[in-house]
Amino acid sequence: MSKHTISITKTTNPKPRPDENNLVFGKYYSDHMFIMDYDAGQGWHDPRVVPYGNISLDPAAKVFHYGQTIFEGLKAYRTDDNRVVLFRPDENWKRLNRSNDRLSIPAVDPEIAFEALCALIDVDREWVPSAPGTSLYIRPYVIATEPQLGVSPSTKYMFMIILCPVGAYYSEGLNPVPIHVESEYVRAVKGGVGNAKTAGNYAASLKAQEGAAALGYSQVLWLDGVHRKYIEEVGSMNVFFKINGTVVTPALNGSILEGITRKSVLQLLRSWNIPVEERELSIDELVEAHRNGKLEEAFGTGTAAVISPIGALHYQDEKLTINEGKTGELSSRVYDTITGIQRTELPDPFGWVVEV
Ligand SMILES: *Cc1c(COP(=O)(O)O)cnc(C)c1O
Repeated sequence: MSKHTISITKTTNPKPRPDENNLVFGKYYSDHMFIMDYDAGQGWHDPRVVPYGNISLDPAAKVFHYGQTIFEGLKAYRTDDNRVVLFRPDENWKRLNRSNDRLSIPAVDPEIAFEALCALIDVDREWVPSAPGTSLYIRPYVIATEPQLGVSPSTKYMFMIILCPVGAYYSEGLNPVPIHVESEYVRAVKGGVGNAKTAGNYAASLKAQEGAAALGYSQVLWLDGVHRKYIEEVGSMNVFFKINGTVVTPALNGSILEGITRKSVLQLLRSWNIPVEERELSIDELVEAHRNGKLEEAFGTGTAAVISPIGALHYQDEKLTINEGKTGELSSRVYDTITGIQRTELPDPFGWVVEV
């Protein structure tokens, strides 16, 4: 029996489910959602699964004006034997509360968050797709709802979870993409909110992304906000480089988001006895390594794509092609292993997978 009584109201009007072979990321939502309210003095209360639909907020709700909001992202997978599993959900709840803390939002009990997600998935179980490569993307988030235009932490919040079935990220195998090294705009600075999953970081990244897209690049590689020199992330993914046999990723420095895929890739590489370094890495070092033929592979990591190989970097007037624009051997191995563990097609030596 659950300690927390989650009320469940089922829809009387289920939606037709989209074709699993033509899913577009973030376009279709399941029949239900989870909501829980917070009021100062009362804490979190009224956890409930309700039909998916509009919510009503006062126009003065703080989230609209000051961006007091955070989110998470994880996936549920349907296994070959028809179970539904999650990948390291406890890491998401830990990060949710680190983000909450940075944005002065009250913590959400990880146990309640997990029970909420289980209850929601249970009601919408048939929305977990089964076509190869598909999954159910899960978006937990918190918004500040107090109607008050003063700049101070809200006294009211909503914690919500919505679900969307998403397609195979790579329908034709891993596809290396060209990346623009952004030297004008920055994503975050130390002491700011770069290490929190909060809306403002993404709003602030759009301008650079548009600029890169106009030049024909799929994403930007972010440099640090002070020197425009040290590598931070790629788009909204963490980034790894294989340089002369060693895998290097920027150390968590306060402006980098601590990805769960990043953490998993590091654990995996170390278990394979591949030399790994978390440290400062400058764009000059990458240019130099490329010049000497030592920049062997590069890839981004994140929940959506798991691994996103980088085929080339465009920096100032130079184009650095990596591994002839092809997916590297290590990138493929990491991708195959993590996706294999996530779908329970491979053993799970680290205890990452949780059945729900
Ligand atoms: C979510 C996110 C990541 C990747 O985190 P995962 O937990 O691996 O999905 C990396 N960078 C940014 C900016 C992010 O928002």
